[in-house]
Amino acid sequence: MTSIPRSSYSFTEQGRVQSVHPDRLSEAASIDANQDGALQEDEIAAYLERTDSMHDHEGHTIDKERVLTEFKFHLRKEVNPEVAGYPSYEDVAADLARLERTYPYLAERVSLGKTHEGRDIWALKISKGARCEDTKSRTGIVLTGCHHAREWMSVQPPLKVAHELLEGYATSPEMKRRVDNAEIWVVPLVNPDGYEYSRNEDNWWRKNRQPVGQDACGEATDAIGTDLNRNYASPDPQHAALYRPEGDTPCSTSDDFGWATSDYPHSDTFRGRTPASEPETQAMLGLELNRGNIKGVIDHHGYGEMVLYPWGHTDQPAPGQERLNEVGNRMNRAIGENEPFRVMQSSDLYPTSGTSDDILYAHGIFNYTLEIGRSFQPPVSQIGPISESVARANMVFIDEVMANGGVAR
Ligand SMILES: [Zn+2]
Repeated sequence: MTSIPRSSYSFTEQGRVQSVHPDRLSEAASIDANQDGALQEDEIAAYLERTDSMHDHEGHTIDKERVLTEFKFHLRKEVNPEVAGYPSYEDVAADLARLERTYPYLAERVSLGKTHEGRDIWALKISKGARCEDTKSRTGIVLTGCHHAREWMSVQPPLKVAHELLEGYATSPEMKRRVDNAEIWVVPLVNPDGYEYSRNEDNWWRKNRQPVGQDACGEATDAIGTDLNRNYASPDPQHAALYRPEGDTPCSTSDDFGWATSDYPHSDTFRGRTPASEPETQAMLGLELNRGNIKGVIDHHGYGEMVLYPWGHTDQPAPGQERLNEVGNRMNRAIGENEPFRVMQSSDLYPTSGTSDDILYAHGIFNYTLEIGRSFQPPVSQIGPISESVARANMVFIDEVMANGGVAR
């Protein structure tokens, strides 16, 4: 849709007329369906559905009010005040360092790589004798958060699991068993540059912050950022179609696979110049595929209260789908009887390519995506309850992978 931006747009919030920030004028133009300069609530909602920021499929649990409120901070280019209750990158890095200092025998903080802006992608390796024993002989499990910058809540469950494992080690036989016999990697912030940008500059930011430079056709572009969860690719050429499905050519956006993976560098779901082009993607693949012992991964995202399992690139069932479904349902019951998530194949939400899930599953790694919360940045009062319930699902997953390993071959 092309419409020429006016010089101003406004919307009404709680009876008060608010102005759209000058930097958001062209976006406002595409929201303003009737071109009257005023963004009505239903126009904004329709835009969010169109751009997939407000899933409204049957059975989903979302908080529309809240999503609209969060989006309006973006339109005004204001910081979401909830940010004060969410940890910064530095806070998360310090928390992991503190856990390492407090439990030196059980935990080691490791940098998986550096981002474009020079931040370390921190992981905490949790395993008995973390810094002195060869823990690689144990079953490896990776728990990640925040591939997508604005999904602030997704940072929390991996952190919560780290705390529960380490703080419970001395008193809980269950926690001790996990730490003694598995090697658990917690990576709460896969996309620290994007996270900080969404905290300080634009709460609606999704991608990382590396300038694209050139698109897949070699055309220069001023676009910034790649959707990290469309940038995953297998080093094995036999899996090339998981990154770029057949018929989707690099030099065209009209043949893009589905509508949730794009070759357009300015798109929120831009898959990157080349397969696994981004430092964050490379850091995660280095851990997950190269280390050799990783059998299970949970990737936390926001939002919509769903337990998603592979495949995303096809609606065909993945091999071992029964197990994916059965374990997914057990994880769901651990989240809570009262507020169950929806358990389903990822492609049922929408088709995707270049996702962590599909690439890892093709390499024998059992995995899920958990879509947590009812908006990207839930009220701070919900951080505790959501983290606790989702951490329980993570424990079910850890036990399952410890008992039964990765994808059966
Ligand atoms: Zn996400």
